[in-house]
Amino acid sequence: SQGTKALFIIFGATGDLAHRKLYPAIYKLYKKGFLGESFAVIGTARREWSDDYYQDVVMDSISDLTESQEHAGTFASHFRYQSHNVNDTEHYHTLKDLADKLDEEYDIDGNRIFYLSMSPSFFGTITSHLREQNLVTENGFNRVIIEKPFGSDFNSSKELNDEINASFDEDQLYRIDHYLGKEMVQNILALRFSNSLIENSWNKDSISNFQITLSEDLGVEERGEYYDKSGALRDMVQNHVLQMVSLLTMNSPKAFTTEEVRKEKMAILNALKDPVVTQDEDTEFVRGQYDTSIDGETKGYRDEDKVDPESLTETFVAGKIIIETDEWRDTPVYIRTGKRLAEKTSRVDVVFKPSQTALFDDKPTVLSILVSPNEGFELLLNNKKIGPGMELESVRLSAVRSEETVEESPEAYEKLILDVLNGDETHFAHWQEVATSWKYVDQIREKWDSFTDSIPFYPALTMGPDEADTLLQNDGNNWIYKA
Ligand code: NAD
Repeated sequence: SQGTKALFIIFGATGDLAHRKLYPAIYKLYKKGFLGESFAVIGTARREWSDDYYQDVVMDSISDLTESQEHAGTFASHFRYQSHNVNDTEHYHTLKDLADKLDEEYDIDGNRIFYLSMSPSFFGTITSHLREQNLVTENGFNRVIIEKPFGSDFNSSKELNDEINASFDEDQLYRIDHYLGKEMVQNILALRFSNSLIENSWNKDSISNFQITLSEDLGVEERGEYYDKSGALRDMVQNHVLQMVSLLTMNSPKAFTTEEVRKEKMAILNALKDPVVTQDEDTEFVRGQYDTSIDGETKGYRDEDKVDPESLTETFVAGKIIIETDEWRDTPVYIRTGKRLAEKTSRVDVVFKPSQTALFDDKPTVLSILVSPNEGFELLLNNKKIGPGMELESVRLSAVRSEETVEESPEAYEKLILDVLNGDETHFAHWQEVATSWKYVDQIREKWDSFTDSIPFYPALTMGPDEADTLLQNDGNNWIYKA
């Protein structure tokens, strides 16, 4: 096949994301034939780069992936650079001329993907200029990819959305939540709805609770300035965590279409119970901030570069999410995420109830969905210990993908950009999802902002403050995953 015809215009082309993720993803799509020769990329940013220099940067970013220098060179020859200040109207005229020229040169038929890989504070400005200076074509598709963070609360996200909507319709917008591009997150629905064994036990009678853990071992690194204003709740819970909650608990969609999947996800997000947030034991959300590690080798959050030395920003969140439907009211979804935790892992543990018969002293069956760095499933079952008597022991059925398989699987960005080329919005967050998630998270934020005296600390490289354990123990539960 000749692949999809498309002109990409990347705003923020000199940035970290473009270099680390976008160029490699576009290269892989080219290598696999999803993009043919009828594609081109215009990179724009403030810096004054030449086309040659830009093409060298692109070559450098894909150096690990290339078949040959020649193949990489052919790929990079499709890239042009246009230095550009997003506020300057004149630049959009220049950009339009270049876009029209490349459209003709590469026979692209007007298909355009505008990738906004920049601070969201520029999104409104860029989209209105794209419309007013006629960069939007009549003959092809025009799609806009937007990076996170999409606002910092409901009001700011609504403002941002209104600005963008003045120039582009919802069905032209692709809000990236890269978790939705991950193999094992996409696998949640496949697992749930293609195995009757699992489908028939995915209910309140069989499941005791869900546990989502998205932990990082790194600290804030160079992002202290951004992170200190954001915190874990905004950075991780509003988007990735709540998306995973909806995938784990949504009803079966009538069909696997964007519309039906979104409808069922929304039903969950609309049913989230208002969280109870206090400084006492009855709280459903707890926060924490990392302090110096126990061995003294890793510094605390307040000592990080560009972080307020008296910061009350949370680097850890644990919570109990209640979905107020007849199905899930009594089945809590426990979540935790944070930085400088003991280990880097993303996983879901589905904890089943003990057997109804009281014949044996059984432990709960646990299905673990390993998202990263390991990918696969593990199922913890009871079985009889070898020998006399009827004593039980746990056995683990494991379908963990090999490192090689994981290495060879397409990265989230590759799959998501391909979805944009195909016009498939299933793995992108709809505005309604974003809005409802912000409203939920804002309630927690508001309470925390009113607790101005202190924040629970945890030693760096542990699994968070004690409060995170108490949260589950109060319900007679425990975190399954312990690093
Ligand atoms: P970055 O700071 O490395 O790059 C920002 C880019 O914007 C640069 O190319 C810069 O030249 C350009 N720019 C800034 N001001 C400009 C102006 N006035 N006119 C024209 N160009 C201007 O940022 P990044 O890490 O590449 O992130 C880009 C976006 O992606 C952000 O919204 C970020 O939140 C999001 N994001 C990044 C990552 C990541 O891993 N880097 C992950 C998730 C989301």
